[in-house]
Parts: sequence; structure tokens; C-alpha cells
Amino acid sequence: MSFPATLQGFAFAAPTLDRGDALRGDAQALRDLWPDARLLVLDGEGRAAADANGDLLLLLGAQLGGGPGTAIFLGQADGQAWFALEAATVPALAAVQWIDLRRAAAEWPADVASAFAYARGMLYWHARNRYCGVCGAAVAFDRGGFVGHCAQCGNDHYPRVDPAVIVAVSDGERLLLGRQPGWAPRRWSVIAGFVEPGEAPEQTVVREVHEETGVRVQACRYLGAQPWPFPGALMLGFEALAHADQPRVDGELEEARWFTREEIGQALQRDGSEPDGVLLAPPISIARALIEHWHGNGTALTRA
Ligand SMILES: [Zn+2]
Repeated sequence: MSFPATLQGFAFAAPTLDRGDALRGDAQALRDLWPDARLLVLDGEGRAAADANGDLLLLLGAQLGGGPGTAIFLGQADGQAWFALEAATVPALAAVQWIDLRRAAAEWPADVASAFAYARGMLYWHARNRYCGVCGAAVAFDRGGFVGHCAQCGNDHYPRVDPAVIVAVSDGERLLLGRQPGWAPRRWSVIAGFVEPGEAPEQTVVREVHEETGVRVQACRYLGAQPWPFPGALMLGFEALAHADQPRVDGELEEARWFTREEIGQALQRDGSEPDGVLLAPPISIARALIEHWHGNGTALTRA
């Protein structure tokens, strides 16, 4: 499977598991798959159990015995099922170390890191949705972990993601970057913000860029998306063409300014190696891909 992706090279978006929706409701089929299933075990901080080499721990259902129980059915790859489960439910786990998702994104094969991101997002949703949002009773997870059913009021609850836009804003010549309070010195990135209810992502682009920097977007275009389970976002990547307004910040960012193509080129090349150099987002992120795309291609957008 492939998508005609404009943006490439970032983590968590690799083709990974066949999610096997039809199997989720078949408890017997999931029990049958369990002995040979690959298990992704995550601790309470969302880190994955790894072996001495730092690779994903090779753990099969047969080693734990029993059946899936509260494990989440992630899907299948090459006929092998994958489940995710909390470390607290795995007795005597022989994990040598725990690997966080950013390290996995940099060091693990793209498909395995993507499966980890998927598992982390699902376990986070479980951890934050143990009680019904309607009536407050405890929910019971079913369908391989993809439905939280409330027996008291009868409502079903489904996994959620929080869509956000992330946008490379250009005035035609320069790129708009901002700095959040608390970031490492010299660190800059593209503008981002969450989609609000009643809003299309293009409207979010216009609103967020104006709220955070005062810059007026004239046109924007979707380029690609990255699941970003820190903890539950889906980053929708855009490019935008804007008026050459003087940026002003109002709390959410502590600084925003336009960067020339030459400045961005130097920052990408030197990657913060010089004491006064600009630090950009790491290569695992769609933020980096957006910056590289703008540096290499400019914008395809034209003023209306
Ligand atoms: Zn309820």
C-alpha cells in the first residue's frame, strides 16, 4: 500500500498492521491467535519493553499462557496477530529495559515504531476512559479493546484522536517559525494548534496562525498527516501562503519571526551544531518534513 505522499520521512506513519476489524468481535478467533501472537508490553509511562539490545522484546502469547484477557488486539502482519497490554497485567516480565517512543522512532524499524505508537495511543485511551463520560459508571472494554461499553446507561465509547494542524507558513519568500515558552534555547518550529469543534482544518490554520502570530493566511493546502501519540494527537500537515505581516506574539508563543530560505538552509545543514545556530524539530517529526519541504520546493500556493 502506498499513498502519493507529498511529505515523507517522518515516524509513526509507516504501513503497519492489518487492523482486522472483522476479528475484533470474534472472541474465539482472538483466543486462537493468542499463543502465536506478538505482544507489545507498555509500562505506565507509555514505554515499551525491550531486550538487552534495545529492540522490541520478543514475547509471544504462549509464554504468558491463557488468552488475550484485557490485551488490545492491534491487528495482524504476515498472519501473526499483535496485541498490546499493560505491564501491570504481565507477571514476572523479563524486560531488560524500557524504550520511549521518541527513541524507538529514531532506532527501530519504521513499521515496528508505528505499531508501538498505535499501541501507546490505544493504551492511553484505555487508561483515561475507564469510566463512562455520560453516567460515570465503570466501562467494560470489548471488541478486542476497541469499544468501552457502559452496562449502566448502555452507551458505547470508541477510541479517540485529537486532530491538530501544523503548518509551514510562507509570505512567498520567508518561513514563519515560533518559539514556545519552555523550549530549549534556539529551538524554533512551525505553527501548530488543535482543531476545535465546529471547525474544518483549513479554518484552524487561518485561526491558529492569526491567534499565535497575528499573521493573516490567504491560502493553505493539506500535505500529509502524522499520528502523534504524545498522547493522542493526529497532526494534519499544511502549507500556507500569508501576508508579509510583522509577527506579534500573545502568550502561547514567546517569539515568532520570519526566516529567510538561507537561514533555514543553514539550520537544516548545521542542525544546531554551532553555538548560536537555530535548532529545528527532529527528523522523526512532520514539523521537520514541512520545513524541509518548504526549503526544497517553496510553496505551490498563489495569492487569490
Ligand atoms: Zn454510562
